[in-house]
Amino acid sequence: MTVEIISIGTELLLGQIVDTNAAWLSARLAEVGIEVYRRTTVGDNLMRIVAALREALERADGVIAIGGLGPTDDDLTREAFANIMGEPLVLDASEAERLKAFFAARGRTITERQLRQAMRPASAQPIPNPNGTAPGLYAEWNGKLMFALPGPPNEFVPMATNAVLPRLAERTGGRVIRSRVLRLCGIGESDAEAQLSDLIQSENPTLAPLAKLGEVHFRITARADSPDLAEHMIAQMEHAVRERLGAFIFGVDETTLEQVVVQHLIEAGQSLAVAESCTGGLLGHRITSVPGSSEVFLGGVISYSNALKEALLGVPRSVLETHGAVSEPTARAMAEGARERLGSWWGIGITGIAGPSGGTPDKPVGLVYIGVSDPTATVVKSQVFPGDRATVKYRATQYALWLLYQGVKQGGCDSLLQP
Ligand code: AMP
Ligand code: MG
Repeated sequence: MTVEIISIGTELLLGQIVDTNAAWLSARLAEVGIEVYRRTTVGDNLMRIVAALREALERADGVIAIGGLGPTDDDLTREAFANIMGEPLVLDASEAERLKAFFAARGRTITERQLRQAMRPASAQPIPNPNGTAPGLYAEWNGKLMFALPGPPNEFVPMATNAVLPRLAERTGGRVIRSRVLRLCGIGESDAEAQLSDLIQSENPTLAPLAKLGEVHFRITARADSPDLAEHMIAQMEHAVRERLGAFIFGVDETTLEQVVVQHLIEAGQSLAVAESCTGGLLGHRITSVPGSSEVFLGGVISYSNALKEALLGVPRSVLETHGAVSEPTARAMAEGARERLGSWWGIGITGIAGPSGGTPDKPVGLVYIGVSDPTATVVKSQVFPGDRATVKYRATQYALWLLYQGVKQGGCDSLLQP
């Protein structure tokens, strides 16, 4: 089974937006063994859209068009589908009702222009859009599958997931597709891949690596005749991955590292305070983004200057003068100061050089010291993080969360002292 993707929109050709939808869709299609030999980008021009569709349909078993389904004059995908199919556009009664109700619920009457979104080629079916006004289109024409989905990613992704991928998977044999993402931290992508290389060869379920900032994801995707069987295949693959890399897996699917940290702190009944220098509050921000974090997160100090490190956290002036603000003893004193001055069980101290300037031969840009302290011990780790200022800051918070996660899970900071 081969499909082609046609991204429609002059803004894509002008480089004003990046085609994240096509990239996302390509990855999902690859996971289920559907081949994409070509992707095309075309502007908002009816004849060029029709030509792109026609060529793709000559080569592939199916085509997925992205964008151009809205209410404005440059939204031409419906017309292009009707043109290819040689059918008139008709009003879909149920989509028209849904659109009218949508506007009525907002105290507005629907315009003619808005109502155009309920038009479809006579033999096409609408694809419901729970997050927007424009429905998608699905048609079987000359033995080929044709799909059109709206461009906004929050509409496109769920519609592709629920209406496109299952229909394509049906054609490739399996009737359902299920997938699960395993999220890893504390190991690099190539190390992780090397340890799973034989599993990555598997065709069903598939195991696909994806490098993210500060973490590595592996997506397991199974195609099977029933949801139970697909889940069973996923569970087996997950078990095999966990046997090798279980220590690095902190969560599945949408679970974030800050979520599991907060959850473990709540379960342990332990509180947290932070002292942040180079991360400027980003660690506190990430922790407070988790609902329920107030149960365990007391707060923090953004001690950017030496004066505040001294005054608010009790970092000794002699330490700052002898070792500098970016040093092991300073991170240690910040972590202990956060814990003691703010009265928490756990304290974290972060100090580093986010760049782009300020590096020296012995303290390069990206060098970050992270202190983690609890009543059992204080541990300081350092790393030189690659990347620009924002990246270094994010990686520093990620590493701090990772250390804290391990410390809480293993029952105390002293567990981090073991190599
Ligand atoms: P459209 O459905 O063509 O009216 O597109 C509406 C909006 O969706 C655009 O302004 C973009 O913000 C977004 N969009 C359209 N196509 C894509 C795409 N291929 N990838 C990511 N975003 C897109
Ligand atoms: Mg458009």
